[in-house]
Amino acid sequence: MSFVRTIQGDVDPSSLGVVNCHDHLIRVGAGEVFLDADHLLDDVDKAVEEASYFVKASQDWVAGGTVIDMCPSACGRSVTKLAEVDSRVDGLQIVVATGFHQEKVYLETRTSWVNQYSVNQIADLLIADIVEGVDAHDYMGPIVERTKHKAGVIKFASAYGKITEWEHKTLEAVAIAAKETGCPINTHTSAGTAALEQAKAFVKLGVDPAKVAIGHVQRNNDVWYLSQITKLGCYLELDGTSRIKYLPDSSRVMIVKGLTELGYGKQLLLGTDSGKRSYQKAYGSVTGMDFDPAVFAPRLLDEGFDRDVVLDLLVNNAQTFFQFGQGRQQ
Ligand SMILES: [Zn+2]
Repeated sequence: MSFVRTIQGDVDPSSLGVVNCHDHLIRVGAGEVFLDADHLLDDVDKAVEEASYFVKASQDWVAGGTVIDMCPSACGRSVTKLAEVDSRVDGLQIVVATGFHQEKVYLETRTSWVNQYSVNQIADLLIADIVEGVDAHDYMGPIVERTKHKAGVIKFASAYGKITEWEHKTLEAVAIAAKETGCPINTHTSAGTAALEQAKAFVKLGVDPAKVAIGHVQRNNDVWYLSQITKLGCYLELDGTSRIKYLPDSSRVMIVKGLTELGYGKQLLLGTDSGKRSYQKAYGSVTGMDFDPAVFAPRLLDEGFDRDVVLDLLVNNAQTFFQFGQGRQQ
């Protein structure tokens, strides 16, 4: 039977409701926080408040809401705090990630375990997060204590304009783990660069393209370029809402319109990636995690999109994408 692996267990994909395909409820420390303290999201009460806004806005479309929390291993992930948020918000489901962020987030990486371990050893750690349970200590120390909360998505990330040698090693491990378990891959590109290269690399390594979503690609708002990725069978994840410093939201409307017209409307996923305090309502921002169901989807209707297309973007595409494919799932 098809299922999505949430932090509380495997569920029927149709139970997800509106899916925020890339966001951050909890980040308790590590490299990104060192680089910019705005990334610190360690307050469970605030996360509960922010997630509640998302679930409330989602109810206008369908019952329930799911947040794909894209904090990967050794990156400030706290599966226990995330599970607490999940249990305190009615109608909320959360998917926790394994995998990796881009190299620079890990600061100085000469002695990192990615450098010390073999690709297969790294893949085994990702697989264990998926089939056994995420390490309570986030793979930050020599002692691993598995929780009952399993990962339901694998993150891969690359640098601006290149995939570093360190990132290539993580890419190979991510591909092995995805093929072994059927777990979907949801990526980070830096400002939309190296997006086609990520997709081609996973396809070349034998990963099912229908289980690969290339993320943050709204930053490269070139419809022809993006269609080269969907043509491979991969998904695109569009987030970065209300970040006018990069692009106005009209750019995201244009991408959705262009790709829908080309017939790729069912390969588009929406996220918010409100991964900083300054991007969340709970910390005082005027927009937050609820942006897609509360602002963007109504805007699409106002701009003439069919309700069915909008529901694909909010609900249906993600329910298909985040289902596990064939593999060893226990
Ligand atoms: Zn993110």
